[in-house]
Amino acid sequence: MDDARPLTDRPVVGTPSVSYGDVYVAGSEPLPEGEMRVTIIGSGDPWPRKSQASGSLVIEVGNPERDFFLFDIGSGALMNFTGLHLPVTGTSKVFLSHLHADHIGDMPGLLGSLAKIGRIDPVEIWGGGSDEPELGLAAFVDHMTKALAWDTRSFRGLKATSGTAAIPHELPYDRPDTVYQRNGVTISSFPVIHALNGAVGYKIEYAGLKVVFSGDTRPCRYVVEAAQGADLLIHECFQSPRVAARAMGLDEAVVAKLLKAAHTVPDQAGKVFAMAEPRMAALWHLDLRPGVDAVFEDISAHHSGSVVASQDLTVYNITPEAVVARQAQLDPAAPVIHGPSELEPHLDEPNPAPSWWANALLDM
Ligand SMILES: [Zn+2]
Ligand SMILES: [Zn+2]
Repeated sequence: MDDARPLTDRPVVGTPSVSYGDVYVAGSEPLPEGEMRVTIIGSGDPWPRKSQASGSLVIEVGNPERDFFLFDIGSGALMNFTGLHLPVTGTSKVFLSHLHADHIGDMPGLLGSLAKIGRIDPVEIWGGGSDEPELGLAAFVDHMTKALAWDTRSFRGLKATSGTAAIPHELPYDRPDTVYQRNGVTISSFPVIHALNGAVGYKIEYAGLKVVFSGDTRPCRYVVEAAQGADLLIHECFQSPRVAARAMGLDEAVVAKLLKAAHTVPDQAGKVFAMAEPRMAALWHLDLRPGVDAVFEDISAHHSGSVVASQDLTVYNITPEAVVARQAQLDPAAPVIHGPSELEPHLDEPNPAPSWWANALLDM
């Protein structure tokens, strides 16, 4: 696999009005007004590895606020995020497709650590509700916040702790809904078919452009409906049962059953793409290690449009003129960038020092 190139034979659809560099050097291309940029910061599955973090993407929009949104935040994704030169203060809008651990693994770091690094505003988290409240997004956020009590308490009086707060927005698990409308951006959710009630996908619209993200799902009518005429459809995809079974060292029948119950395989992805006809289709959540030739072959039996197998740091630039896929290059030791916050930083009363510290502290 050549990390510097996107995995596709058609990385450009349309005719771009500007020339994009072969590689996106993070931080070097301010996003123009009217453009969207989607960066895959986790392309993998529950087995996080250097080559593929667990699922996550960042969607930037060229509105005056230069808002950006995180969709899922799997293990390893934050490490990729911090190299993108985006302001830590802006990490306050997170949309979760569902609550499988490989989609939320970096949430403690996002809530606790990025607040220490400089996020002042609370994090709003959108995600599916459930017919059982204990399985819904609000319960998850409540438990997560409580689990971080020590972390949050620890820096009272030293840094603003307001950025550790999380505000849940529960979305319907059984029907589409418009869930976010601010600063020229509209985000809608729709139910998808994955494991339990509460898994959703999202449609993100800005300046006449449309990106659809399936989350984890079996082939689903709601995805196809949301993605009609989309500029970019990011759809989950697993290797075919035959390839996946070999890669995992498991029996093919066992793997086939698992994938059929919860996911989408290349043959099905091809059919979904043929129904939705997006300008560009992006595969996501795909184990790239076994290679993608068989994946593209299965898809092309049904769909002839551009398809990209997302790697970590595949970047999609979307304009009315063109959709362009490239790979990003990160600064591995990128500095922190601070942007505007809604709240003023406020210091709480500091924690009293435990009395036993007086005898233990080395006076240096
Ligand atoms: Zn899942
Ligand atoms: Zn998953």
